[in-house]
Amino acid sequence: MLLVDYHIHTYLCKHADGTIEEYIKRAGEIGLSEIGFSDHAPMPEWYDPEHRMKRGELPLYLKLIEKMRSVFPEQRIKIGIEVDYFNKTTDYVKEVIESYPFDYVIGSVHYIGGWGFDNPRNIKGFNQGDIFEIYKEYFSLVEDAANSRLFDIIGHPDLVKKFGYFPDRSYDELIKGVLKVMKDNDLCLEINTSGLRKPVKEIYPDRRFIEMAKDMEIPVTLGSDAHSPNDVGRDLDLAAEIIKKAGYQTIAAFKKRKREEINI
Ligand code: ZN
Ligand code: FE
Ligand code: FE
Ligand code: ZN
Repeated sequence: MLLVDYHIHTYLCKHADGTIEEYIKRAGEIGLSEIGFSDHAPMPEWYDPEHRMKRGELPLYLKLIEKMRSVFPEQRIKIGIEVDYFNKTTDYVKEVIESYPFDYVIGSVHYIGGWGFDNPRNIKGFNQGDIFEIYKEYFSLVEDAANSRLFDIIGHPDLVKKFGYFPDRSYDELIKGVLKVMKDNDLCLEINTSGLRKPVKEIYPDRRFIEMAKDMEIPVTLGSDAHSPNDVGRDLDLAAEIIKKAGYQTIAAFKKRKREEINI
């Protein structure tokens, strides 16, 4: 089975361990056909500086990965980036994205207003409001991200469930809204296995979300969100099985922000 892992971090984001070499070695050991690094992009200094590289470190990030392409010529290594979508930083991130010919750009929502809802330190926010309303806000930000035209891939599309808080009623309409905007903007959906390692113990997004995406013929790609070499490729076989069951026969790969389909 040909699998790609397009969501891999590096030590530059300050909360991932190991060397870049170790991530690539691991990918080779488990036989991934292609990997892509997508570390947390720099943001303006006031925005969550402890979880990302500095703007001045971006050239180093690119240089380190480019160098690895000659160290491991037998492996296909892509250079991407995971960019936070936040309404007040779109000009800043546009400059970052355009500063280099990335293979792909993942857009992720990690903040609802000033609330970093995916940080375990901020979990009490889920007890301070109606969960459906929180989901509504989250998915409306994902829609804004998809409409921003900044990204190729929407990362961990239902990250809001990370700690296992679910609304007491169906939120299918919210998912449909997101998928429609993704379709209109020709975006790719990330199947991210890191949720299995989090309290929710589920893939992002869940099966139902994936089935609805398939109905709309929205392309998908795979990522482990590895912050440690041993997590490279983790549970991607399971993810591949889930998308196949939903009817997908291909996954998306990217080169210089052009998408192509590869058979799985
Ligand atoms: Zn991270
Ligand atoms: Fe993320
Ligand atoms: Fe990530
Ligand atoms: Zn992530």
